[in-house]
Amino acid sequence: MAEKRDYYEVLGVAKNATKDEIKKAYRKLAIKYHPDKNPGDKEAEEKFKEAAEAYDVLSDDTKRQRYDQFGHAGVGGAAGGGFSDVNDIFTHFGDIFGDLFGGGASFGGFGGGSRGRAVRKGSNLRVRVKLNLSEIVSGTEKKIKIKKKVTCTACNGSGAATSNDVQSCPDCKGSGYVIRMVNGIFGRMQQQSPCPRCGGEGKIITHKCPHCSGEGVVDAEETVTVQIPAGVADGMQLNVPGKGNAPRHGGVNGDLYVLISEEEHPQLERDGNDLIYTLDISFPDAVLGANVEIPTVEGNVKIHIDEGTQSGKILRLRGKGVPDVNGYGRGDLLVNVQVYVPKSVTKDEKKILEKLQESESFKPKSQNGFFNRMRDFF
Ligand SMILES: [Zn+2]
Ligand SMILES: [Zn+2]
Repeated sequence: MAEKRDYYEVLGVAKNATKDEIKKAYRKLAIKYHPDKNPGDKEAEEKFKEAAEAYDVLSDDTKRQRYDQFGHAGVGGAAGGGFSDVNDIFTHFGDIFGDLFGGGASFGGFGGGSRGRAVRKGSNLRVRVKLNLSEIVSGTEKKIKIKKKVTCTACNGSGAATSNDVQSCPDCKGSGYVIRMVNGIFGRMQQQSPCPRCGGEGKIITHKCPHCSGEGVVDAEETVTVQIPAGVADGMQLNVPGKGNAPRHGGVNGDLYVLISEEEHPQLERDGNDLIYTLDISFPDAVLGANVEIPTVEGNVKIHIDEGTQSGKILRLRGKGVPDVNGYGRGDLLVNVQVYVPKSVTKDEKKILEKLQESESFKPKSQNGFFNRMRDFF
């Protein structure tokens, strides 16, 4: 196999390109090398596949991160081996092609039957699911109500009133497409396009099913149970195969994409698989040491603050963070200790502090230096 090109280079974007830039770059290439525009052009097809593979990785936060870290090896292997068939790309990126080419793509997948695909696929659905931190840490099961197209039971998806009402389209003789000659930059070329009479389906219906008005599908509501693994993060997307829309006139269902959105925790801030808690302690506690309670996802725990603790010290509670979504252990809870300085004090307190001000132990001795803090940290 030829050496794989760098994905950023393939799409012609910078390493720090935004998602939007990546999407735009991919669209440009997808249009340029689209098989419909370049019929029979093997090189264009390869470029089309290459761009799709690059987009598949760079548009996905997790895959992109792995790619940035490990290169092709990080996203290759069983899961990310690219696309062998152009039709895989249309199935995989149903949405972007829906945006790109509009029309028929919004229903029934890319191009309907115009490419003569053996199996028609329904369009994909996307729902957003909001999770709180404890659901993310433990993993959870969500029941999601979705509105979708399901196969009409009256006609079994055929769209016809009776089985005698389905006939092969006489214009395209059932193939679903017609061949036209078009004038291109390289002269006259053959171009396949969907049959206008049957809309690419190869069949015409003489009497429509009254239930679905000939669509073969009806609107319905379904409750889908989705298993959400521990460790997911905001913006991640889970794919539930076969739970999207049913296609018109038979075929396989589209997929359901569940987009994760993360509720903010009132006290714990997430940083990858680690959690950060900012703990304010009083000045006397910092000097004398204290036992304090801090929140974790599993409830409060007591920790000990050593005497002489400096502001900015970070305590690490191993394994109290978020589990890695790929199963590589669990993150930590980092307690960022901050010494609270009161904005106003009483007269009596002031007197005590003035005494301390003169006291030798309270004169700073550059203990707060960067290297000291690093030493504390490790
Ligand atoms: Zn029907
Ligand atoms: Zn036709």
